[in-house]
Amino acid sequence: MLAEQSIDFVANVSAETIDRSTRTVSLSNGTKLRFSKLLLATGASPRRLDNVEGKDGIVLYLRTFFDALTLRERLQPATDIVIVGGGFIGLEIAASAVARGCRVTLLEAASRLLMRGVPEVIANRIAAKQREAGVKILISVEIESILGCGSRYALKLKDGKVFACDLVVAGIGAIPKTRLAATSALSIDNGFRVDDRLQSEDSDIFAAGDCCSFPHPLYAGRRIRLYRVRRRAVVLVGSIRRDPAGGRSLRSNVQHRGAPAQRH
Ligand SMILES: Cc1cc2nc3c(=O)[nH]c(=O)nc-3n(C[C@H](O)[C@H](O)[C@H](O)COP(=O)(O)OP(=O)(O)OC[C@H]3O[C@@H](n4cnc5c(N)ncnc54)[C@H](O)[C@@H]3O)c2cc1C
Repeated sequence: MLAEQSIDFVANVSAETIDRSTRTVSLSNGTKLRFSKLLLATGASPRRLDNVEGKDGIVLYLRTFFDALTLRERLQPATDIVIVGGGFIGLEIAASAVARGCRVTLLEAASRLLMRGVPEVIANRIAAKQREAGVKILISVEIESILGCGSRYALKLKDGKVFACDLVVAGIGAIPKTRLAATSALSIDNGFRVDDRLQSEDSDIFAAGDCCSFPHPLYAGRRIRLYRVRRRAVVLVGSIRRDPAGGRSLRSNVQHRGAPAQRH
């Protein structure tokens, strides 16, 4: 299908460096690709519970297909699950876990659920639904430490409360993957910094999806990152096609890791 669209798909290879002076991308297999236009769509990694003592190897995250399989295996009936983060991902995991018969406690550091995602009135409706389904929701709390306790864990909050649980899952946001900026000297501002046409300061380099931030007119030009991948892709294609210098549409050398996504 990609071939029909004149797109070369290169599997099991990652882009390592960008050389803007020669307009080339170096790949992990040693080859170099020349570009006239370059799109960065490297995505994001889950934000980790970095400052929590004892969390290593204990806390699960959800990003890849493998993460989802691992989680599904661990969400067994009558297990005690603590979910850190009351955003979309934390709430979706909570809903799945109670439906599978787990006992679920959800911790949120902010003063309400979905603070970045929806207005308070909607967040309250969702919180009520989740509580009705059996999710215990604690607001304005933060974890201090997670300690092994036999086959279970003792999770201590900063306010001194302690819970015993079988599994901790964190859904606390994502960090844009901008490693390629180091070699390309592209600006970073909560992801690759692009304008409202997804164009970077280099007029031949664009970024889209979770790896970039762009100014949004609805927020007085404040820079945001967001989920609306399809919409942004339409804007992007428009930007590239409008390119006055090249005057032609992009014939892509799309490269993508064909191997199953790695665990984070
Ligand atoms: C649990 C969950 C539920 C979600 N639900 C929704 C939803 O309902 N609606 C919605 O709109 N969004 C949802 N999202 C968000 C959505 O998945 C992301 O916004 C979307 O996947 C971003 O697409 P992307 O192409 O920017 O990044 P990704 O999908 O992360 O793709 C980036 C790709 O680039 C590859 N890559 C990275 N670096 C390199 C490199 N140097 N060289 C080569 N390849 C590289 C990666 O391996 C990866 O395959 C959800 C996310 C999660 C985790």
